[in-house]
Amino acid sequence: MRHPYLTEEHSIFRRSVRRFLEKEAVPYFDEWEQERLIPKAFWLKMGEQGFLCPMVSEEYGGAGGDFGFSVVVNEELERVGSGMAGIGLHSDIVVPYLVSYGTVEQKCRWLPGCVSGEHITAIAMTEPGAGSDLASICTTATRHGDSYIINGQKTFITNGIQSDLVVVACKTDPQASPPQKAISLFVVEAGMPGFTRGRKLNKIGQHSQDTAELFFEDCRVPADNILGREGEGFRYLMEKLQQERLVVVLVAQVAMEEALGVTIDYVKQRKAFGQPISKFQNTRFKMAEMATQVEISRAFLNQLIVRHMAGESIVAEVSMAKWWSTDTAKQVIAECLQLHGGYGYMEDYEIARRYRDIAVMSIYAGTNEIMKTIIAKNLGL
Ligand SMILES: Cc1cc2nc3c(=O)[nH]c(=O)nc-3n(C[C@H](O)[C@H](O)[C@H](O)COP(=O)(O)OP(=O)(O)OC[C@H]3O[C@@H](n4cnc5c(N)ncnc54)[C@H](O)[C@@H]3O)c2cc1C
Repeated sequence: MRHPYLTEEHSIFRRSVRRFLEKEAVPYFDEWEQERLIPKAFWLKMGEQGFLCPMVSEEYGGAGGDFGFSVVVNEELERVGSGMAGIGLHSDIVVPYLVSYGTVEQKCRWLPGCVSGEHITAIAMTEPGAGSDLASICTTATRHGDSYIINGQKTFITNGIQSDLVVVACKTDPQASPPQKAISLFVVEAGMPGFTRGRKLNKIGQHSQDTAELFFEDCRVPADNILGREGEGFRYLMEKLQQERLVVVLVAQVAMEEALGVTIDYVKQRKAFGQPISKFQNTRFKMAEMATQVEISRAFLNQLIVRHMAGESIVAEVSMAKWWSTDTAKQVIAECLQLHGGYGYMEDYEIARRYRDIAVMSIYAGTNEIMKTIIAKNLGL
């Protein structure tokens, strides 16, 4: 069974998400790739259908579903294309910070808009000088009366252009030891004085997902916008990374499953030397090897989803899946492109887009090298 943790209710939900995306996303996806942006109107339609933040509880406007509903939405979005990743980031990566660490007042203020699509969210950790080494960020937040003044710069921020709410990692006590204790999280809202956005960054892939630099120049944020407690930001980030990485594994999995599917179709219809290229032993062996890799990856992922849904801490295992599955997806998709010959290098073919879109999955949500440092640490090394 492909999804042992999903029920009939999830299947019905999947059918309606798929129908909606076939009508509202697939026909426009190329246009969004060219615009380097998914229009806000689409976010609002997603919200209207109940496809954003399915886990948010009913009191804040959500459906109060389990993680299985998020799995369904992320899988269906990835079937359309990896450029939809910013939507999953909103629902399953950023909004959970508001749910877990926000006060009741903050949740009443922000969550209904996140569910409806009125508030698009982003998370800003990375800076030009600090990515993997998060504890060395330079952005500061200094208390002044009933406000904090934020100064600094962030980069590579998914949904950076369109976001209405940005969870920003700042140092509130730059002298703190260890430096992890220096970090706090703030919700910066669009329009706050001193908060500006840079250009849309020109990425090699995932074109419809907007990615930007953010600037904070004496940006005054009410003290009420701190998320959780001062000095606890690093711990909050580490707690939430398990789900973030699991979502990346999930979308990498779907990307390779889709790549395999289109390649099976292609090798059956493309002919060379008087026969379909699927008849060559090389093609058959490559396809057999890739199908095996995809199945192994799916089995590991399913097991981790079940454990995550049961509330287990699986930091080391998710790190294993993150590096293995995203590296495997890169290999599989490159091999699928090879089997398309020259056509695989043409943008008209889905495999070309899958090839450029998969590259970043071994980099964001913690690079695969950082995943290996986490695994090694958990081995007691
Ligand atoms: C498309 C895209 C979207 C993104 N979205 C977001 C977002 O929404 N929010 C956000 O905050 N960030 C986001 N990021 C940033 C992303 O998380 C970082 O790029 C990533 O964490 C790596 O940081 P870096 O780019 O500074 O690389 P560096 O940290 O400079 O790493 C460079 C290389 O050195 C290696 N390296 C570093 N440290 C070690 C070590 N200890 N041991 C071994 N090797 C090491 C890395 O693995 C990598 O290969 C995004 C990035 C991209 C490209």
